[in-house]
Amino acid sequence: MTAVIHPATDQSPQSPASALVCRNCGASYPLGAQHACFECFGPLEIGYDAERLSRVTRESIAAGPHSIWRYAGLLPAGQNAATRVDSGTGMTPLIRADRLADRLGFTAPLWVKDDSANPTHSFKDRVVSVAITAARELGFTRIACASTGNLANSVAAHAARIGMDSIVFIPSDLEAAKITQTAVYGGKLVAIQGSYDDVNRLCSELAETDEFESTAFVNVNVRPYYAEGSKTLGYEVAEQLGWRLPQQVVAPMASGSLLTKVHKAFKELQSIGLVDPLDYRVYGAQSSGCSPIAVAFETGSDTVLPVKPTGIAKSLNIGNPADGPYALDAVRSTGGAMAHVNDDEIRDGIQLLAETTGVFAETAGGVTTAVLKRLIEAGSLDTSRETVIYNTGDGLKTQDAVSDRVGPTAVIAPTLKGMRAAGLL
Ligand SMILES: *Cc1c(COP(=O)(O)O)cnc(C)c1O
Ligand SMILES: [Zn+2]
Repeated sequence: MTAVIHPATDQSPQSPASALVCRNCGASYPLGAQHACFECFGPLEIGYDAERLSRVTRESIAAGPHSIWRYAGLLPAGQNAATRVDSGTGMTPLIRADRLADRLGFTAPLWVKDDSANPTHSFKDRVVSVAITAARELGFTRIACASTGNLANSVAAHAARIGMDSIVFIPSDLEAAKITQTAVYGGKLVAIQGSYDDVNRLCSELAETDEFESTAFVNVNVRPYYAEGSKTLGYEVAEQLGWRLPQQVVAPMASGSLLTKVHKAFKELQSIGLVDPLDYRVYGAQSSGCSPIAVAFETGSDTVLPVKPTGIAKSLNIGNPADGPYALDAVRSTGGAMAHVNDDEIRDGIQLLAETTGVFAETAGGVTTAVLKRLIEAGSLDTSRETVIYNTGDGLKTQDAVSDRVGPTAVIAPTLKGMRAAGLL
């Protein structure tokens, strides 16, 4: 491997991160822009100093900003206010979904963590806020990504906010709204004639070139930092529940990273004593058009076989998911389950969530809602246990998914007669 390693320059004493650790063989490396193990090519993740993590208290968190940066003491970047990029990401609503609970037969509380409320309307603002902060701390001057849509929106917006150059790579067949919502921020946007997996492969090659030496690809060379941003989805739910864990969580999976990091966050909160121990279960959701992780779960396999993605849940269309095996581990070790649903069920899921909670989700949220229903029907998710489902994106980004199914009740003349003719009076 010839990757240029940018050494960590910010040795801020409060940073709890201590090393990059190989998730496969356990080898450990100094903090910096490295994502693969030199020994076994396994993926690296941030390792923490347990003592420094345990300095964080409920009070120190409550005294922090109303954003993900209240958890800076548990994150690998952003301890230094001068480099921290705070776009107001996080502290999104945790909505008590009583009407959805009734519809699905819950006797315990059901909640929707609505991450469509983030600045660029998806959960990706969490991972990008951490990644761009780490990129600045590591001395990078440009930010980039390989995206299925939402990441593109978020990287371009964060770069615009701080005036950093950006170059974003997407598959050319993305939803029009996601292309517009990236291009409007003014950075470079490159549409690739190929799938997300092709885009990702190109970005991995580019990250090794001299021309891209000063470019941080958020989900390639600074991926260990990026991935930690998803932990805040776990911390926030615990804090919003009054510092306790839910018994069951359902999360959508693309690479599988988000799900594994919610699990990591719950374990950390228990180990540093911010919540009482609880045997929670983690459940994973995919669309049938791209379900390599859920299929491995169903067949009892440890091997995630790559697929060619199809279907409307484009933000989840990663055919070769980097964190698939770790997502399987998280779900199996907690006694959870996985399922996948087809495009019509995804549309049903979007409508069910909208009609019962007032939350209009993008296709990924339709996947999660439909999988919740499926898991209940299969008897693998317990409706007598408190449950949180994650809505990770905004329905305004993927309106085509349901625009054929919904519309005006009637189109009428502006008169009482018109109302009567339509049977509304
Ligand atoms: C990226 C994304 C996810 C999950 O991504 P992972 O790669 O599994 O971390 C979920 N929902 C939406 C809307 C996304 O954009
Ligand atoms: Zn290794």
